[in-house]
Amino acid sequence: MEESNKFFSIQAGQLTGKVALVTGASRGIGRAIAQALAKQGAAVLVNYNGSRERALEVVDEIEQSGGQAEAVGCDVADFAACGKLVEDIIAKYGHVDILVNNAGVTRDNLILRMTEEEYDKVLDTNLKGAFNTIRHLSRYFLKQRSGKVINISSVSGVMGNAGQSNYSASKAGLIGLTKSVARELAGKGICVNAVAPGYISTDMTDALSEKAREGLLQMIPMGKIGQPEDIAQMVVFLAGSGSDYITGQVIHVDGGMAM
Ligand code: NDP
Repeated sequence: MEESNKFFSIQAGQLTGKVALVTGASRGIGRAIAQALAKQGAAVLVNYNGSRERALEVVDEIEQSGGQAEAVGCDVADFAACGKLVEDIIAKYGHVDILVNNAGVTRDNLILRMTEEEYDKVLDTNLKGAFNTIRHLSRYFLKQRSGKVINISSVSGVMGNAGQSNYSASKAGLIGLTKSVARELAGKGICVNAVAPGYISTDMTDALSEKAREGLLQMIPMGKIGQPEDIAQMVVFLAGSGSDYITGQVIHVDGGMAM
């Protein structure tokens, strides 16, 4: 009976004793992921870059509901800063068990108008940012012979999207990064997967025009936009033991957009 519980339900407290680093957790999807992991018992490092106050609010919310969290500032695009962040976390907590690469930005433009800065900013944050954290944490995952890495990609990285060549390239790149690192680490007890959200209600999508919003809704078979919690639930599953035999996968959470 106990065995079947492991496989067929998410047990409250299943992440007790685990330490999770969630990048870009001050707002939106990252915030929901941090809260959901904390609810399962993980101690959560809430990473932010610009939104310190909002990250502190997330920590406060988690602590108010009996969880454990700490806000950690770091620009994920900065390789050396990510190294220092990882060393600081290891020095304080001793281990990291779950890494969620969620930090992301958009700088949409048509290819004819896209500037080098717009391209670099998006690639440096969304793709190199994930490389930076994985690169610094992988030696600890290898030492402990366990770890769950979850990269937040996007439906744009799977299908492409006009006006988002930089963003789509970064998110498709994340899928390649996920699969390659998954193959490298699969024999060492480390799982590396990607989640590809569709259209989720956050600050990022609130910035869209009414016309763009209408167009997107028409592409979603379920006919509604997703919520950050829809992504967070999948991340909880990929962070827990119920997904121990899953690696190198891209899980679509998109109301059917990319089937
Ligand atoms: P938001 O714009 O709401 O939040 C973005 C988060 O990323 C913030 O917490 C922000 O932190 C953080 N961030 C940005 N740049 C950096 C950086 N250099 N270093 C550290 N943190 C950074 O985005 P969403 O919640 O909507 O998106 C979260 C992830 O999900 C992104 O990777 C996005 O691409 C992806 N996604 C979102 C979809 C959607 O429809 N919303 C669809 C598909 C994928 P701060 O404010 O502190 O700088």
